[in-house]
Amino acid sequence: MAKDVWKFVAPEHLYYCYECSRCTGSCPAAMVMDTPGPRRLLIKCLHEGPQAVIQEESLWFCTICHVCEDRCPQEIHITDLLTALMNLASRKGNVPERVKAAVETIARTGRSVVTYRVDEERLRLGLKPLGRIDTHELEIIAARTGLLEKKSS
Ligand code: SF4
Ligand code: SF4
Repeated sequence: MAKDVWKFVAPEHLYYCYECSRCTGSCPAAMVMDTPGPRRLLIKCLHEGPQAVIQEESLWFCTICHVCEDRCPQEIHITDLLTALMNLASRKGNVPERVKAAVETIARTGRSVVTYRVDEERLRLGLKPLGRIDTHELEIIAARTGLLEKKSS
């Protein structure tokens, strides 16, 4: 399974990293979360392998914004690497509960955040209610990832 990660980024490409930390210095997640950032994950992947990195909770702080990749002077595909690592972690069932909860919210409601009293407020402003989103396809996709329990009917 780890070989799936190396399909996205060749391990020899990671040796181009000279640890300038520009990626971590630009990472929005590292600015606000207690995470060591992409440079350390990349170095750990190189030295200890993908299986070691997928144990890291901080892997899931990545928002896949691509800023680190854009700013890397060595043009290392850091975001592709982190995405492949998250996919591997997911296949192993190694997904934090908060991520599973976010997937469930999106699959069940079609929205990334739970909305409270929004329609009430929209009505007060003379706007139409948001209405329900058809989540049928989203639920199928999420169920296929194994991250969403099937609803008992
Ligand atoms: S920006 Fe590129 S070269 Fe610099 S530490 Fe990050 S991955 Fe390595
Ligand atoms: S892709 Fe992930 S690791 Fe890279 S800058 Fe964005 S949040 Fe940080």
